[in-house]
This record gives sequence, structure tokens and C-alpha cells, in this order.
Amino acid sequence: MPLEHIRHIVLVLSGKGGVGKSSITTQLALALSLQGKSVGVLDVDLTGPSVPRFFGIEESRVRQAPGGWIPVEVHGKQTLPSNQTYGDTDAQSGAANGAPQNLEQHVGPLSCMSLGFILSNRGDAVIWRGPKKTAMVRQFLTDVLWPELDFLLIDTPPGTSDEHISLLETLLKQTAHTTQLAGAVVVTTPQAIAISDVKKELNFCAKTGVRVLGVVENMAGFVCPNCSECCNVFSKGGGQVMAQEFGVPFLGSVPIDPAFLMLIEEGVRPRYPKGTVVEGRTLVEREEGV
Ligand code: ADP
Repeated sequence: MPLEHIRHIVLVLSGKGGVGKSSITTQLALALSLQGKSVGVLDVDLTGPSVPRFFGIEESRVRQAPGGWIPVEVHGKQTLPSNQTYGDTDAQSGAANGAPQNLEQHVGPLSCMSLGFILSNRGDAVIWRGPKKTAMVRQFLTDVLWPELDFLLIDTPPGTSDEHISLLETLLKQTAHTTQLAGAVVVTTPQAIAISDVKKELNFCAKTGVRVLGVVENMAGFVCPNCSECCNVFSKGGGQVMAQEFGVPFLGSVPIDPAFLMLIEEGVRPRYPKGTVVEGRTLVEREEGV
């Protein structure tokens, strides 16, 4: 049973594309890994498998073992001095600044499986009929040889499609009589249209009996790099209002972070989870003591 060594499975959903679902999935994975957890990311967004690009491992390919696919390692288990962040070079780290190194930070291993690792031509659009897509989703849940994981995050396609139904059917069958399926994180942006779409997502969870762990509002405001003033480009607070309306937790807001976009577009491997919100502040703000 490929999922049997996984403690918690979390689905990441969004009502429509482009709201930052894959960004939140990958940043959440890095944040959990920085807490020492072993994490896997399954990219089931067949029409736009962007997770490999977000982890800077686009060139990687999965290996086929007799029992199934071996996921690609983003990074292994690491131990860092507490004053060094994941991906820092020695020159940037506290070690080079002469800071004490008596404390250590354990970074958990992170692995990933995506259709992007299988397509022979990465630029190819996936134009498949429904049955082929649902068969691939099923195979992703049954044929990937995950190592022992604390968390498996599943990046799903936007909306509520056949792939979602197939995903849930297979997942519920595989995890029946266990508490492995923790629930879903729903990602939205503050614009009204995305929020109306996401209501469908919350209804889908209610109908299929998937617990909603909470709502994340992405691209909520733009922090100007020059004056640090936060400008609410779109309306603000919609995610929180909607979460209240549906009686589900509001997990927080992530601002538009130009540095994050630049790192992704330039294919730079993430040095640490930009834009991740912990206790109301992004990790960048926490780092800078804002
Ligand atoms: P989805 O998975 O919902 O289609 P993505 O995560 O692929 O959306 O994000 C769409 C684009 O927006 C990507 O180029 C990503 O880098 C960018 N993006 C997402 N969230 C943010 C953010 N908070 N700040 C800056 N850019 C972001």
C-alpha cells in the first residue's frame, strides 16, 4: 500500500486557476520541512503541473522501480545552525558572521511527484480525455513509492472536475478506517469572482465529507519594496468573511511578494519559504523583525 507510511494527507484546493494554489502548496511543504517534518508533494494538476518549477527541479525525472515510481527528492534531511536558513550558502549564514552555533535546526526531507517528471516534452500541453486523466490520478495514488512521511500535500487541479472525484474516491478507499486524510486547505484571492468560485469548493468538501482545515487568502495586498506601504490592489478581507460564513477556520493572508515571483520566474531554488505566513507575519517580515 503506497500511502500506508503517510501520517497526514492534506489536499490543497482552489476554485479557479492562477490564485496561487501551487505556490501555497510548495511554500507550506517548505515550511513543514523547516520544522523538521518529512514531507511529500503530489502534483495532480495535470493541465498545469508547476510544482517541479516551483521547487527548481524541472529537469528531474522519476525513476521506475519494480513496485512503482520513486518520487524525486527536492532535498534530503539536513541539520542547520539555528541562525542559517534553508539554502543559505556559508557566506550568507550566521556561521560567517561569527554568530554562536550551539543550536541546530533540523530540516526534514522533501520529495515530490508530478506529471511534469513524466512528460517527454515538458512544454507539451496535456490534452487528454477524462478517462485518461482519471486513470493517471488513480495511478498517482496507487503507484508512487513514498518514503515514511509526516505530511503528503496534494496539489489538485482548479475547480471541481472529474479528476477531483476520482482522486477522492481512490483516496477514501485507500485510507478507509484510518485518520490519514486530515482535510483540505482552500486557497483564494480577495477578488469577488475567485471567492464565489471557492464557495463551490467548500460545498464540494461538505458534500464529499472532506474536512476543511481552513482558507488561505493569497495575493492580499502588495507591499511596496520602496516604501513598505501595503496597497490593497484587490478588495480585502473577503477570505475571512467567507470563512466565517461557512464556519471554517481562516488561516491567514499572504501578500503579493515580487521577490517570490522573481525567484520562481528565474528558476532559482527557493532559499526559504518566502511569503509564508506564520502567526500573522510573513517569514520575510519575521526574519526582518517587522
Ligand atoms: P495556481 O496553482 O492557483 O494556478 P500558482 O501558484 O501557479 O497558481 O500562481 C500563479 C502565479 O502567481 C505564479 O507565477 C506564482 O509565482 C505567482 N504568485 C502566486 N502567489 C504569489 C504571491 N503571493 N506573490 C507573488 N507572486 C505570486
